[in-house]
Amino acid sequence: MTDKIAKSEEDWKQILSTEQYHILREKGTEKPFSGKYTTHKKNGVYVCTGCGNPLFSSETKFDSGSGWPSFYDIIKEGNVKFKTDVSHSMNRIEVVCGICGGHLGHVFDDGPKPTGKRYCINSISLDFKENKYGEILEFLDKKKSKPKNKQMVGKPIGLIKNMSKARIGTVILTIGVIISLFGIRHSETCVITAIIGLILFFVGLWMIFKEDKKAV
Ligand SMILES: [Zn+2]
Repeated sequence: MTDKIAKSEEDWKQILSTEQYHILREKGTEKPFSGKYTTHKKNGVYVCTGCGNPLFSSETKFDSGSGWPSFYDIIKEGNVKFKTDVSHSMNRIEVVCGICGGHLGHVFDDGPKPTGKRYCINSISLDFKENKYGEILEFLDKKKSKPKNKQMVGKPIGLIKNMSKARIGTVILTIGVIISLFGIRHSETCVITAIIGLILFFVGLWMIFKEDKKAV
């Protein structure tokens, strides 16, 4: 199996730091609980530090207690490859980058549902891209309409849903005010109009209030 990036070991030594070279090219292992991504919880995508290939989504990251960043799934089939590793008198499955072949870690069968896998990965093999691939892929997958401005990318989709509810609430509230004002002015004949208007006003107010509470 040849790597898609043809670099000599000398080239890699130029690109990578000493510890990155040791882990990625010499199949080293960082000390447990020493890596910067072990307890990292931000939303985004973990990419290969050697070549930038997207490897794992924060959505599949979990706390395994092992001392290394752990994931129960890979971001996309083919983005990582597997090799049998019988070093250190153990029979393990090594996980390598599907593009540059860099050593990432190992995969075990004691992970959580739905895959039952535990990808035990060195922080040093990873780089983190916050809110770039994951959220956008989710938008594309679910064929959601585009957010109206760039700042919206990366915010939880639930918040966007709630914001549209607030907008509907504002419209209902406005209609309610107009109808109730009309009803009050003509109170002799339009008591029902005023009541309907007030009901709409409170429904609108309730929707906005609900959204505010969720947005906090
Ligand atoms: Zn790579």
